Amino acid sequence: MTHIAFIGLGNMGGPMARNLVKNGHQIVGFDLSSDANARLVAGGGRTAGSVAEAVEAAEIVISMLPAGNQVEDVYTGQGGIFAHAPAGALLIDCSTIDVATARSLAATAAQNGFSMLDAPVSGGVAGAETASLTFMVGGTAEAFARAEPVLAVMGKTVVHAGDAGSGQAAKICNNMILGVSMIAVSEAFALADRLGLDRQKLFDISSQSSGQCWSMTAYCPVPGPVPASPANRDYQPGFTAAMMLKDLRLAQEAARASGSSTPLGGHATEIYADFCDAGNAGVDFSGIFRSIRKSEN
Ligand code: NAD
Repeated sequence: MTHIAFIGLGNMGGPMARNLVKNGHQIVGFDLSSDANARLVAGGGRTAGSVAEAVEAAEIVISMLPAGNQVEDVYTGQGGIFAHAPAGALLIDCSTIDVATARSLAATAAQNGFSMLDAPVSGGVAGAETASLTFMVGGTAEAFARAEPVLAVMGKTVVHAGDAGSGQAAKICNNMILGVSMIAVSEAFALADRLGLDRQKLFDISSQSSGQCWSMTAYCPVPGPVPASPANRDYQPGFTAAMMLKDLRLAQEAARASGSSTPLGGHATEIYADFCDAGNAGVDFSGIFRSIRKSEN
């Protein structure tokens, strides 16, 4: 049993923390939302009144927060983790944030005597609930070895991607592939409609051919071929278009900073920005199919 503080108990953090409780770990959680705190208590965990109180006796601190500015506040603020976690605690940030912030937080953690890992996830809310997430982890081998058994309780694949920031690098590269491939698959289904090709036939062929990809076979953007995909429930998320846009923007920021050429990633960012601006920020990202289908003449 490990004493773990869990900061950020939302759609992802809530079920992740509850899986740790189920596995016998002692969890003290904190979220700004009282509903989120109540769900952890209902799942058998304890909650604290502040970040400082949650981390005061922790061997491991895990955070799962919306974006880089919240992560920075929660770690570096006066009432934050660096100021209040016990010496030697292992700090694991599972949020998706920019590579530069992840690297600078790991450096500040080291100056304060902590080991810190960036460990963003793939697999969505369903993966968090069923403890089948993929963790991509950046940091030292020693810190990874300490974290691995705990991460394995919440996921089925835990990969050490490299030094600090490498987990975030892997996450934004992966999600840039996902954003581009979801648009490509959606364009293909819209074209098939116009050509009079049955959607199920395209699925049967492409899912076994060179067009095969996760956006086609696991998260198909048209209703029917993949019963679990959000297309079958009016594109309720799942993974919102706003979150996809956030990750595509992080990839573009990293591409600019590193001088990489990512024209399709750039175009996908514009397409998702327009989709969100048109009132679809809260729609599942596979709902892009509807707007591609609608925008044709
Ligand atoms: P969410 O908004 O549901 O949860 C975030 C939680 O953090 C909220 O409950 C919020 O109240 C809390 N919070 C914000 N500031 C806080 C603070 N200062 N102190 C304590 N709590 C605070 O978001 P989510 O869907 O759980 O996503 C969390 C992270 O996981 C994001 O970085 C996201 O990009 C990433 N992610 C999400 C998914 C997904 O499918 N939802 C998939 C992979 C990765």
